[in-house]
Amino acid sequence: MAECGVPTNPQNFEVWFHYAAGSNPDLKKALEEIKGNGSEIDPAVIDEIREEFFGDKNTKDAVLDISSKMSGELNRVLEIIQATGEDTTQFGNTLAGAADVLGKSDTGDVRQMVEELVTATKKMEARSQALEQELQKSTAEVNQLKENLETVTHEALTDELTNLANRKSFDKELRDAARNAANSDEPLCLIMSDIDHFKKFNDTWGHQTGDQVLRLVAHCLKTSVTEGQMPARYGGEEFGVILPNVSLEQASEVAEKIRSTVQSKKVVKKTTGESLGTITLSLGISQMKKDDTLDSLIKRADACLYAAKHSGRNCVKTEDEVDPDKVLDPQAASG
Ligand code: GH3
Ligand code: MG
Ligand code: MG
Repeated sequence: MAECGVPTNPQNFEVWFHYAAGSNPDLKKALEEIKGNGSEIDPAVIDEIREEFFGDKNTKDAVLDISSKMSGELNRVLEIIQATGEDTTQFGNTLAGAADVLGKSDTGDVRQMVEELVTATKKMEARSQALEQELQKSTAEVNQLKENLETVTHEALTDELTNLANRKSFDKELRDAARNAANSDEPLCLIMSDIDHFKKFNDTWGHQTGDQVLRLVAHCLKTSVTEGQMPARYGGEEFGVILPNVSLEQASEVAEKIRSTVQSKKVVKKTTGESLGTITLSLGISQMKKDDTLDSLIKRADACLYAAKHSGRNCVKTEDEVDPDKVLDPQAASG
């Protein structure tokens, strides 16, 4: 840990312990990739890894997984019990038939024996039916639990207002997408966007109407992306879009589509039908480079976003068009 410049706190120890013990091959691989770069490791990267491997979401995933396996297993047991029940019924019928035949002949001992067997079989049948009912109840309960867990997991990863992926979900998805891109040599782009002059909008029309606008923008984002591209509410009035396997040029087209879709909407106050003008977005795009961390990737998209603000808002800037070192402080873009 000292070698990599990682703070020796309990959280980081957890990661390093599992790395050293080799108990988690994926974690080992992830750390070795980062260590392979040779430079000191950014503590934020270790935070990301810890969240990914030991975070809340992981626990929920694991529980969900176990629950789903358990439910499948219960169904399987139920089928076996049902089949056994049918076999027992058939066996009982056969015995009853035999008893009937024997009843007509005079073989007292055998008849009594068969009657006892019939009684025992009936008891067994009843017990197996009761068991089947119990199991059906358990299966229903497990299924209910599974549904509850799915709801909780969905809620934990979704922004309540816009129904888009939330920041937590965005962070996880970006981490996964970055790893996939690094492993597959496919490009990965990131759009960061921000509503223009939103404070003024809120001040003029009220926070609730502002919330409606956030929903509208979220809707535009959803309808402007294709499968595999993930829009998320990054925070406040900022949205991110993760675009795997997409070049900077293609990402720019997606961003332009988002921008023009938002601008094309006539915003109307729900309660009065009053026209509130148009809403615009500024957008910045970065593409992942070899030595990028998630942080640097986001920072460059942000830098492009601020460049878009600075050049008049309601536009898209890619990192090809912007020198991040020359991007002015966000404050400088205000006005
Ligand atoms: P710029 O074009 O430079 O981005 O200007 P701006 O006014 O949009 O930027 P600023 O960061 O000053 O204001 C952001 C505003 O977004 C302030 C805040 O009230 C509003 N906002 C953030 N989250 C929410 C929300 O959940 N609902 C509403 N209605 N407004 C929000
Ligand atoms: Mg903002
Ligand atoms: Mg804004």
